[in-house]
Amino acid sequence: MAKLTVRDLTVRGTRVFTRVDYNVPMEEKDGQMVINDDTRIRETLPTLELLIENGAKIILAAHLGRPKGKREPSMSLRPAAAKLADLLCRPVAFVDDCIGEKVEKTADLLKPGDILLLENVRYYNEEEANDRAFAEKLAKVADVYVNDAFGAAHRAHASTEGVARVVAARGGQCAAGLLMERELKFLGDELENPDRPFVVILGGAKVSDKINVIDRLLEKADAILIGGAMAYTFKLAQGFKVGKSLVEADKVEVAKAALAKAKTREVEFLLPADDVVATPVDTGKLNKKGKPVIEMQNPRVNREANLPDDAGGVDIGPATVKAYSEAVCRAKTVLWNGPMGIFEDARFAEGTFAIARAVVDATQQNGAKSIIGGGDSVKAVNQAGLGRQVTFMSTGGGASLEFLEGKELPGVAALSEK
Ligand code: ADP
Ligand code: MG
Repeated sequence: MAKLTVRDLTVRGTRVFTRVDYNVPMEEKDGQMVINDDTRIRETLPTLELLIENGAKIILAAHLGRPKGKREPSMSLRPAAAKLADLLCRPVAFVDDCIGEKVEKTADLLKPGDILLLENVRYYNEEEANDRAFAEKLAKVADVYVNDAFGAAHRAHASTEGVARVVAARGGQCAAGLLMERELKFLGDELENPDRPFVVILGGAKVSDKINVIDRLLEKADAILIGGAMAYTFKLAQGFKVGKSLVEADKVEVAKAALAKAKTREVEFLLPADDVVATPVDTGKLNKKGKPVIEMQNPRVNREANLPDDAGGVDIGPATVKAYSEAVCRAKTVLWNGPMGIFEDARFAEGTFAIARAVVDATQQNGAKSIIGGGDSVKAVNQAGLGRQVTFMSTGGGASLEFLEGKELPGVAALSEK
């Protein structure tokens, strides 16, 4: 990799402003925000341990959710500080702001090896606006900049890009953290020249995002297996009925183009041969956000190419699981982004979990490199208890996708060259 990494730095006694991706899923339990999945925090431990060992004064910055420039208490990073302290078995200081006097004073008190986590940078609109003055305020506690937040590297925000530019302009170094380095290796170098067969599994809900990445992967993959809600946009493009499935009708033309490209390039392009479908029923109740609560009732397997009018596809069916698993087990490189169904509901998780098992089998039995991208996919693989048995799990959702599309990520571009 041509970028400077945290290993190249001399950091003893210097303030290392480190951007991490602690945008972890949280849930309210008994009036408190609780972290559901701490994968993203754990993934930063190697970088933090290295910085601690080398005597850096570590200042961590991150965002959580979309508070849109307001102090939204449910999006405070305080629980992440407690979680990090647990994982590192050492105290982690927390300041309820990310700029200003309080931050500077606390940073001044840090000793080599100490850690301070700042409050959500998105409490300020200037963060996403990549406001220069705001970046300069952040940079007041930065001698060196480290970016380990691959998951936020696709956005040119003040804490991912602006502050790096300020530090660099002062002659300071800007380096990739160890996680960032690994992300670039597995999502970049390894997929550039993959061991073949190279099988890509794509699913999830963000149809429009992923249809773009398909285009590039059609030039690299030997087979692409489609699941999740995305499958129904393709089915629509093929002229089938999709019932009440989640679809993006305005993406039908793009789907058609992808199908045509797969044919020309002789890429095996698999769509579900059967689905688990369920009937959405409005309960008449509203959830906490005031949205109607829809219950998925009467789950059943649909073996027809057309879906029933009253039901939507919620998971891939058993025949599809079998066909996809066989394709995965033959692979030498597997890339997986997006669950195969609404796996959050145990009734619709089997397709996703079965594919997770196939990916693990390919890894353990066929020596395949298995790479998982996407926040929900990682959550699903962890939920299946298989997180440790794949080669690499990316911490970047949107960032992984943009990187896989071949785009230059601003947060990566801003780092110093070796
Ligand atoms: P990732 O975070 O791994 O990139 P996405 O965010 O694109 O994945 O999609 C994950 C979401 O897709 C999950 O919340 C899941 O419930 C949803 N999903 C998967 N299949 C379907 C489907 N058939 N219908 C509706 N939602 C689906
Ligand atoms: Mg997601």
